[in-house]
Amino acid sequence: MSTWVPVVVPTPAHSSIGGALSYRSELPLAAGSLVRVPLGKREVCGVVWDAAPQGSQDPPADRVKPVGELLEGLPPLSSHWRQLVSFTAAYYQRGLGEVALAALPPQLRGLDAKQLTRRLKRTVPRTEGAVGPGRPELTPDQAQALAGIATEPGPFLLFGATGSGKTEVYLRAVEALLQRAPEAQALVLVPEINLTPQLQERFVQRFGPDAVVPLHSGMTNPQRLRSWIAAHLGNARIVLGTRMAVFASVPNLGLIVVDEEHDPSYKQQEGARYSARDLAVWRGRQEGVKVLLGSATPSLESWQACERGRYRCLEMPTRVGAGVLPAVRIVNMNHQPKGALFSIPLLAAITARLERGEQSLVFLNRRGYAPVLACGSCDWRSECSQCSAYRVFHKIDRTLRCHHCGFTERVPHACPSCGNVDIAPLGRGTERVEEHLAELLAQTRRPDGQPVRIARMDADSTRLKGALEEQLARVHSGEVDVLVGTQMITKGHDFRRITLVAAINPDTALFSSDFRAPERLFSLLMQAAGRAGRDAVHADASEMWVQTWNPQHPLFAALKKHDFPAFAQEQLKEREQAAMPPFAFQALLRAEARTQEVAQAFLQAAADAAPGLEGSSHVSLYAPVPMTVQRVANVERAQLLLESNSRPALQALLAAWQPVLQGLRTKGLIRWAVDVDPLAI
Ligand code: ADP
Ligand code: ZN
Ligand code: ZN
Repeated sequence: MSTWVPVVVPTPAHSSIGGALSYRSELPLAAGSLVRVPLGKREVCGVVWDAAPQGSQDPPADRVKPVGELLEGLPPLSSHWRQLVSFTAAYYQRGLGEVALAALPPQLRGLDAKQLTRRLKRTVPRTEGAVGPGRPELTPDQAQALAGIATEPGPFLLFGATGSGKTEVYLRAVEALLQRAPEAQALVLVPEINLTPQLQERFVQRFGPDAVVPLHSGMTNPQRLRSWIAAHLGNARIVLGTRMAVFASVPNLGLIVVDEEHDPSYKQQEGARYSARDLAVWRGRQEGVKVLLGSATPSLESWQACERGRYRCLEMPTRVGAGVLPAVRIVNMNHQPKGALFSIPLLAAITARLERGEQSLVFLNRRGYAPVLACGSCDWRSECSQCSAYRVFHKIDRTLRCHHCGFTERVPHACPSCGNVDIAPLGRGTERVEEHLAELLAQTRRPDGQPVRIARMDADSTRLKGALEEQLARVHSGEVDVLVGTQMITKGHDFRRITLVAAINPDTALFSSDFRAPERLFSLLMQAAGRAGRDAVHADASEMWVQTWNPQHPLFAALKKHDFPAFAQEQLKEREQAAMPPFAFQALLRAEARTQEVAQAFLQAAADAAPGLEGSSHVSLYAPVPMTVQRVANVERAQLLLESNSRPALQALLAAWQPVLQGLRTKGLIRWAVDVDPLAI
């Protein structure tokens, strides 16, 4: 006598939305069990799911294959976990199997029962998560925030200035949980891998090395499996990771923390394009667990949720100890020599600091911001032949690299178009800024009479393993006087001796086609300002410099006062008038094809099929348009925007649309995908 078992397996993106496949088993298998099952000619890892696939009838017995083996020894994945996966698949319009299997560590998917048993023998032991070396006395702000967390249901938005001690609040909230419930586990999310070691270090110091396990894509597969198992067995008390960790199996989940909740890297940009921040809130509500979001510059979505009473805002406006926020100096670049990279007053301020032996940090908005090569006598520029983008000049190995498709070539000796040998970078890459600054400061001396030491830190200089840590260590130990870099140097780092931070070209973000650009810029500048004056000794002299051609922009007025609420109010008013998120809900249908016509034809056919479908009367569909970067690696890309003031209506339409999209046969189409709550349109 055998039974039918529904099993979700890794299937292509859109092939089995909402579905599981039927297998045969001699024994009943608990939902959430991991099994090996045959799929086509392969054997794959699958998860036993809850009910028989909807609307399916028992297939003919001879067509149903038997379950291979059960991965014994591993407790089944909880119903909460399965619901999280089901919700993600439905909400973000992806296959259930795809989401479920992607949420498991890659190595687990490849193990058979015997191999797994061996792994299980080597798991991290269960720890008490005992509180260890000394903890600071709470500031009044911190104490008040923690009292709120203890007594109210949340979700909470911890709106705390940079340096206000948000991390201490996370630590104490976790501590309170572990003391209250001996089995409980906490999930802590951080936006970037770069930031995990620092936060992990602080959790380890507080709770001991075995209590904390990391989960992020920078780990090897065996490391990830080890962490995952420790979390799944309930042994790890604290799971600390990047967005993927929101799917960790944490059976005794008692608290979720999302640090820097506004950070765009919480949004996955391929496959199931989920927002880990949003899923964390969903997961918390579904499991009855408190969620704590923290930021100095919250997303406007979260800010609005506070205003409407959906989230509880906990404010920590002051820095811990004697740390004060730096004074903001806005330089009107219209009054500076034409073409100057560094204004006269900014250069003077940097020089003065160098002569006093203090550190400065200079940053550009983006990696290699437009260091495009251009010809001086014709209009040739270093375009990528396969993308509608310029390739970026990388001086270090004299190459031109496309940041979209990766196409790399050595820099030509002369202009490929007219033969002129005078080809030079246009714009201001980090390398060029570093080089230029070195020239400007060549005569400047440190207090010890030595020349100034400039270092550059960006995605290129930190590509090699360990390079980032090494460079950071050099900054911390004082071996660097001026650090030049992209926005990556502005995030999170607790630099002690920096008393000047300068943004040299922030204006591009003011006039971007992306309506979120000002929000990002404000957040970036506030974060950057947060790097200065963290040390009481130098605090009062610390400054944040901003060079701009638009000094009257209201964003800078709010920045001068470190006034996020004023900025948010102004932005929300604009968004409301324009009916933009968070006052509206969006989704994008994206298509890729060999030609732009084909991509757009698919989108148009999809749009034409929408009227009459559920929810469609409350959803606006816009015309198909080429994507901002229209062509990547010779593939043409286009998108269609859907907008609604009702999330349920948008969701209903997307669900009803799904089978229609799958049925559309457009010749020459390469692929399509839906992006729900897109971060960039
Ligand atoms: P944030 O995350 O809000 O930017 P941090 O948590 O990094 O701030 O705290 C800034 C600094 O203040 C850190 O060096 C931290 O150790 C210290 N700190 C935090 N809380 C306290 C406290 N209650 N007493 C003394 N120092 C504290
Ligand atoms: Zn030329
Ligand atoms: Zn390219």
